[in-house]
Amino acid sequence: MKELICLGIEGTAHTFGASIITSKGDILSDVRDMYTTKKGGIIPQDAAKHHKEISNSVIEKSLKEANKNFDDINLISFSRAPGLAPCLLATKDVAIRLAKEHKKDLIGVNHAIAHLTSGLLFTEAKDPIYIYVSGANTQILALIDKRFRILGETLDIGLGNALDKFGRGIELGFPAGPKIEELAKDGEYVELPYTVKGMDLTFSGIVTEATNKFRKDYKKEDLCFSVQETLFSMLTEVVERALAFTEKKEALLIGGVAANKRLVEMLNIMCKERGAKFYNVPLRYSGDQAVMIAWQGILEYNSGKKDSLNIDIDDSQRTDQVEVIWN
Ligand code: AMP
Ligand code: MG
Repeated sequence: MKELICLGIEGTAHTFGASIITSKGDILSDVRDMYTTKKGGIIPQDAAKHHKEISNSVIEKSLKEANKNFDDINLISFSRAPGLAPCLLATKDVAIRLAKEHKKDLIGVNHAIAHLTSGLLFTEAKDPIYIYVSGANTQILALIDKRFRILGETLDIGLGNALDKFGRGIELGFPAGPKIEELAKDGEYVELPYTVKGMDLTFSGIVTEATNKFRKDYKKEDLCFSVQETLFSMLTEVVERALAFTEKKEALLIGGVAANKRLVEMLNIMCKERGAKFYNVPLRYSGDQAVMIAWQGILEYNSGKKDSLNIDIDDSQRTDQVEVIWN
């Protein structure tokens, strides 16, 4: 098969990224620019404005870093689903404009699926239970009969959003996950609710309770520690159930929350105890980036897929709605 060079463009939420990779999986460039706030959460319209403002410079930088120009690019891949609608639209506009201008083939991919499949590129995992914990998403999945089946998931907000929401409640700014991890180092356990329902999880009530306790003068450090211990124990319990149920022997942690050392430690211990192998996507690739979008584009393109220049976004496409045509 001919070697392809793909420009991937990511922009479903806070991060706008552009990456150039080859069909062999060589990463030639990976440039990102993240929308952040000092106080309060992500405002979709502002994040989209951020994407529009920096898209040209991020893409130019990505080409330069890869030492390529548009003549070298065979394919443009972009994240078309799921995500914040204004951000998806801004990203789509950039991708379509470039595809038209430079007469390139275009593929729109599912961001969540790109996280999953690129996990196999970044690690040695072959057929794992996927633990996908990002800002908006929390899903435990396995590839069964050409679909990523969702074995368990959050019934309200994603694990990252739960941490960010709690962080907002105790005035940490966005993203709060890393700050909570830091504060938790000096904390002690205080009791919080624990809500696992079969293989599903809910986080909102716990965040509310922890925020209320902050108003009652509980220590920030103790609450950060306890929120982490509680939410991560819940997740670990569900992953163990998924491993037992599917009899799979590997677990792969993906998504921005995978940066958390305590979560990695808990999952590692559980996997070791039941003889499963634990993989963790390298920190650099655990969160949103465009390498995974480029990789997913190559996988789908090589399986014969190509999208029209009229392709639209889908802000709520679920992981199990996409047929896995590339295995
Ligand atoms: P993503 O949507 O995959 O880019 O992930 C972003 C989410 O990861 C945000 O909700 C962050 O708060 C969270 N996050 C990033 N670093 C950490 C960390 N060290 N501990 C916990 N959560 C984190
Ligand atoms: Mg993500």
